[in-house]
Order: sequence, then C-alpha cells, then structure tokens
Amino acid sequence: MTQQIQWFPGHMAKTIREIGEQMKLVDFSLEIVDARAPQSTQNPQIMDMISVKPVFLVLNKIDLADPKQVAKFVSKNKNQFAGILTTDAKTGVLSKDFLRQLKVNPIFAKLSEKNAAANLKALVTGTPNVGKSTFINHLAGKNIARTANTPGVTHFLYWIRTRYNLIFLDTPGLLWPKFDDQEVGTKIGILGGIKDTLLASDDLALWLISFLQKNYPTAIATKYKIGHFPLDNPVAALMSITSQLGMRQDFESASQRLINDFRAGKLGRISLDFYGDDYLED
Ligand code: GDP
Repeated sequence: MTQQIQWFPGHMAKTIREIGEQMKLVDFSLEIVDARAPQSTQNPQIMDMISVKPVFLVLNKIDLADPKQVAKFVSKNKNQFAGILTTDAKTGVLSKDFLRQLKVNPIFAKLSEKNAAANLKALVTGTPNVGKSTFINHLAGKNIARTANTPGVTHFLYWIRTRYNLIFLDTPGLLWPKFDDQEVGTKIGILGGIKDTLLASDDLALWLISFLQKNYPTAIATKYKIGHFPLDNPVAALMSITSQLGMRQDFESASQRLINDFRAGKLGRISLDFYGDDYLED
C-alpha cells in the first residue's frame, strides 16, 4: 500500500488534545468500530486517554459482519472493555436494542445509579466511515441539535443531546499517523475509512481477493460467476472479474467495483478481522 499518505491532518492532533482535556467532563466513552474489523478499526492512539473512564466498544454495521467472527472477537475481548455492544445504525432497528444492551450492563447500571438525577455524558469516537454519524443521528432524532461550542473551550468536539438520558460529546472521525501493521491500513482502506483517492484500489482489491479466497472461498465465485482460482493467483482472479464485468482491461474500475460490492455487503456477511473457522473454544 502507498507509504507516504497524508491522512493525518493537523486538526486530528488538536482533536486528540481536546479529547484529553474533556475526559473529566464525561462519564464513559463509546468507541464505535466496524463490526467487520472490530480490532483493526480501534484507534490505538486514544485508548490510554479514554480508558480513564469506562469504555464501551460498539460494533456497528453488525448486519454486514460474519456472526461467527463477531462471536469470537467478543469472547476474546470481553474483559478489555466495560462492555461490547452491537448495532445496525443504518436501519436503526437496533438503536433501541443498543439502549437495552447498555441498560443491562452492570457497569452502566452503576453509573446510572450514581447519576440518577442527571443525564449521563458519553464521549463518542470512531475512525471515519464506521457509521458514527448515523448512530448518533438515530439516538438524537431527526432534528439533531449540535449545541454551539463554548468559545475557547473546544473547536472540534460537539455536545449533542439525545432523545434519551444521554448526552454525547461527538468527535470527528479519527485516524492515527502511522499503521504499525500495514494490514490494518489496508483493512481500513477497504472499509472506506481512508479517502479512496489516496489509495491504490487495485492493491486493496488484490489483498481482498487473496483474503476471500482463503477465508470465504465461495464468495467471489458466487458473486462474479467465475471459476475457481488457485489461492496464490489473485491477479488472475482480478482479470477474470474484470472481464466478467465487461470492463475489458480496466482493472482499476473492476477493483473499485469489487471493493464497493464488499462494502455494501453484496459478497455476503464477511469479516476482515478473521479468527479462524473453527468453533468457539469456550
Ligand atoms: P461516519 O464517517 O463514521 O460518521 O459514518 P457515516 O454515519 O457517515 O456512515 C458511513 C456509511 O455507512 C453510510 O453510507 C451509512 O449509511 C452506512 N452505515 C452506517 N451504519 C451502518 C450499519 O449499521 N449498517 C450498514 N449496512 N450501513 C451502515
């Protein structure tokens, strides 16, 4: 993947500073991640900072994720967070269910007890495109009221009143300056968290093809009606997809189509953070 991408604009560093300053005002955090890559879409840069208060990890886009991989992630990581919750913010069906999940959580119940008279305040963070705005809009209602910032206090964070006893401190979609593991960057790119114009779509597509051939071997063949390809030849598969789509030699467009189809769930419910195909150990 492209090495010198500038996806960490100056305002992100300032936002992180503001988050640190505002932590004393919130009761807990909701870190929204993409349920298809719940580890890779966690921001490693802010975890220490937000962990001074309970952190609930919200696996959004649960409708697009592989349920078996979600179950494995939850089982492996449940002790790392105050709670791991799941949502489908697009249909909103699950926003009520989200509140139910929150209410039955013992740590949340304790927070509510302590603050019985007041609304609880939650910092809401997430990498770009995980569905943070959709999630907030569902809980805040149609007429989302972004309360004006108090001058000189925050420039990048906004308080938002929800329809429930919760007030959110919204943050802009955050990335971090350097991916220690290049695969994390590739997955975030495939999930739409980095501007497509900054990325080589054929690199992403070739990675995705290899990943799918290995872990979801029927997904590509079923969607694009191409024959079986050897695991080690993603280029041949991309050529075949391109020709099946009637795109002649336009590998770039075919790559983008494959990525868009994946993002929209047209290849099935697929997780990019993959913990093996065996049954849950516990
Ligand atoms: P943000 O950048 O994190 O604020 O993401 P947005 O709220 O703008 O959502 C990015 C895209 O994901 C939009 O096209 C949403 O409609 C879509 N989206 C958000 N939540 C969900 C979800 O739970 N399921 C599905 N299928 N799509 C979602």
